[in-house]
Amino acid sequence: MNETSHPRRRFLINAVLASAALPLAVRALSGEARAADLPKLPLDNAQAKALNYVETTEGLTHASYKAGSLCSNCQFYQGAATDEWAGCTLFPGYNVAGKGWCSAWAKKAG
Ligand code: SF4
Repeated sequence: MNETSHPRRRFLINAVLASAALPLAVRALSGEARAADLPKLPLDNAQAKALNYVETTEGLTHASYKAGSLCSNCQFYQGAATDEWAGCTLFPGYNVAGKGWCSAWAKKAG
């Protein structure tokens, strides 16, 4: 291989590596890949039961529940407000329902 082909070859290798890595990096940064792979938080999970977690606030009568509070507007929700399911920092390894709620709910800032 002659000397002038090395920079070009290095450029091509870098371009291929960058194009392969970019989608993975974007998904990792957005949390999409991680959230999509997580199972739903089981209702019989000990911590979920301790925090009175529910998948829907419809008909919820818990004393701490305030109308309009949902996982999707909780500061611990790791998804976008429109995501049906996403991670929660209090329940690592699981997705919680965007329309769900638990007694640890805290209003998302902003
Ligand atoms: S901490 Fe917030 S996001 Fe997590 S389950 Fe409770 S209400 Fe939902």
